Amino acid sequence: MLANYHTHTPRCNHAVGKERRYVERALEGGFKELGFSDHTPYFFGEPGYYSSFRMHPDELEDYVQTLLALREEYAGRIQIYIGLEAEYYPKYFLRLLEYMRLFPMDYLILGQHMLYNEEEGVASPRPTADEKLLDQYRGQTLEALETGLFSYFAHPDLFHFIGDEKVYDRHVRAICRRANELHLPLEYNLQGQRDRKHYPDPRFWRIAAEEGSEVVIGSDAHAPLMTWDPQSTAEAETFLQTLGIAPVQFVRLRPIQKSK
Ligand SMILES: [Zn+2]
Ligand SMILES: [Zn+2]
Repeated sequence: MLANYHTHTPRCNHAVGKERRYVERALEGGFKELGFSDHTPYFFGEPGYYSSFRMHPDELEDYVQTLLALREEYAGRIQIYIGLEAEYYPKYFLRLLEYMRLFPMDYLILGQHMLYNEEEGVASPRPTADEKLLDQYRGQTLEALETGLFSYFAHPDLFHFIGDEKVYDRHVRAICRRANELHLPLEYNLQGQRDRKHYPDPRFWRIAAEEGSEVVIGSDAHAPLMTWDPQSTAEAETFLQTLGIAPVQFVRLRPIQKSK
């Protein structure tokens, strides 16, 4: 691996270690690029509601400043990018986008942890055989990608469908095809693999292989050591190779236009 674009910081309340240690670990692995994409802040409608697994809006400034300083310090050794991992919650997304535009944001990755939104929706990893929910996942994530604001789709196989295989195939194929048309890579997620979660889902990656999807491996590091995780990477590469998938090393990042 020469780059990783999926890296967290302790601001999300479930990651540990200073940003600097993530950078040092990436250097040990010989990475050329390291992108931070901590769980985005969000603005919700319900007064008093806030998610436990993301930074607060008032932490974004420090996040950006810390990474700008590191970018400067490590210039010439590794390229540091400042991004965020965001869900697409149509009801609240524009407000978030307005806020993001106040900062120099190099990229966003889509991580759709909830359907609809957090107040009214269901968690993507909850096992279900309901095609309506899978259809919602497909529709909502494709609408997100079509905004042109995301640089890639993180753990696209997060949705845990346990129903009819033909139904799964149809919806996943549609996701892969549209992502291809939009030239957006799909991320093979090492965090799910490390923790032996339901993703990476082999069914998903077989379809992605048939559709010729562009695939990028993401560490999804929640601790410095995971930034460069040679064992998980080798395991992922071996699996992808059996499907004929050669992951890309670098992703063309799409910056978020800053407001004046
Ligand atoms: Zn996380
Ligand atoms: Zn993540």
